[in-house]
Amino acid sequence: MTWEPVIGLEIHVQLKTRTKMFCRCPVGFGARENTQTCPVCLAFPGALPVINRAAVEWTILLGLALGCDIAGHAVFSRKNYFYYDNPKGYQISQYDLPFCTNGKVLVPSDAGEREIGIVRAHLEEDAAKTVHVGGRAGRSQGADYSLVDFNRGGTPLVEIVTAPDIRAAEDAKRFLQLLRQTIVELGISDAEMEKGTLRVDANVSVRPAGSGELRTRTEIKNMNSFNYIARGIEAEVERQIAAWESGGAVQQETFDFDAASGTLSPRRAKEEADDYRYFPEPDLVPVEPSSELVERLRSELPELPAERIRRLERELDLERATVLVAGGLDRLWEETFAAGAEKVAAANVIANNLVGAGVDPGSVPAAELAKLVEARDRIPRAAFDEAIASLGDSDFSADPYLAQEAVSDTAALEPIVEAILAANPGQVTAFRNGKEGLLGFFVGQVMKETQGKANPRVVSELVRSKLA
Ligand SMILES: [Zn+2]
Repeated sequence: MTWEPVIGLEIHVQLKTRTKMFCRCPVGFGARENTQTCPVCLAFPGALPVINRAAVEWTILLGLALGCDIAGHAVFSRKNYFYYDNPKGYQISQYDLPFCTNGKVLVPSDAGEREIGIVRAHLEEDAAKTVHVGGRAGRSQGADYSLVDFNRGGTPLVEIVTAPDIRAAEDAKRFLQLLRQTIVELGISDAEMEKGTLRVDANVSVRPAGSGELRTRTEIKNMNSFNYIARGIEAEVERQIAAWESGGAVQQETFDFDAASGTLSPRRAKEEADDYRYFPEPDLVPVEPSSELVERLRSELPELPAERIRRLERELDLERATVLVAGGLDRLWEETFAAGAEKVAAANVIANNLVGAGVDPGSVPAAELAKLVEARDRIPRAAFDEAIASLGDSDFSADPYLAQEAVSDTAALEPIVEAILAANPGQVTAFRNGKEGLLGFFVGQVMKETQGKANPRVVSELVRSKLA
């Protein structure tokens, strides 16, 4: 039987507003623990919340980017639970009347566009941060003790819930790359998984391909990169298929994905379903965004990443277009292309050399980069690399680098090639016996010997002819 994965995602995004969701404490990293707090976010009796206007507007802006309907009447609700990262004993969230519902995102993929439904995007406050000390890998189980930092408590948090429309781990990754880039470009969050400003949980089940049924699903948490998310989902899909095919069943469970071992470890199973006793937050009035506000925000939306990938795909291919757009590199590519660089070469230099050198794409003069792209085979490798690494310097000019010529003179290179071949008789024999991959080794040795000044194409031809 062929099986089909059924994947839904829950994404939490911490907004980078100046102040917290319901008080005037600053939002930000790096401050000493428990210094960014006040009676409201520490839940002193009688302290009253006040809604952060920017957080509401940014949630609506994101909802519009995700193709959602924006509610004319939205309500904050109390989600009641007791945990030490939440001093109120409840979280102010949204329940039946969130700001954004019923959205849709089209993700470009090799098999055409994938449509992913957005069930809802709502606004809530983040819990405090807990640090588990001792035990294994910072997990609560087995820890010696735990510390709570309330600086994060009360930070605005948007929760996005997708429909279970995703059919492959790779599509989940693509969707998340686009979503992250959209959030960054809207300027509402840094959306960095390592810092926890973007957090993703995946709900996974499998079913016989083509059937419409929804089988028992499991949840995977604690995945801190897009690659880990894809690997975690793949591991869970395989596990579930094996369970069904061996005549067993899948239990509703929550797993942590351990990237180092590639394995899933179950959390303690819950004894009963959560009952949060939601009710409307009595300290806050409902929010009724005006149509003027919604239309103003809609007019502020830039051209979104998915649209730009579709546009670039006509010039490049899907993979290169995705890498450029998801990396925030496509504007530089367009300018470099417009300045006369060959399009595929420009894409490769930007996505590989420039990113590899850690240069900020926003600081690069496209016209100078275009000159380097065009001259990349003519100038010495070392000069090219140095020029790329210096592109972000103010008043950078490509001209001194372009003035250098790579050594293409066969007569000058021949003795060096011969010396390298003589010094490596084992590799020479292996190459002659069919190990063609060693060509790169010989070229690399010559480049090293010439301190990067040789033209690698000429060296490569020379090595081939000597070993033919
Ligand atoms: Zn506060």
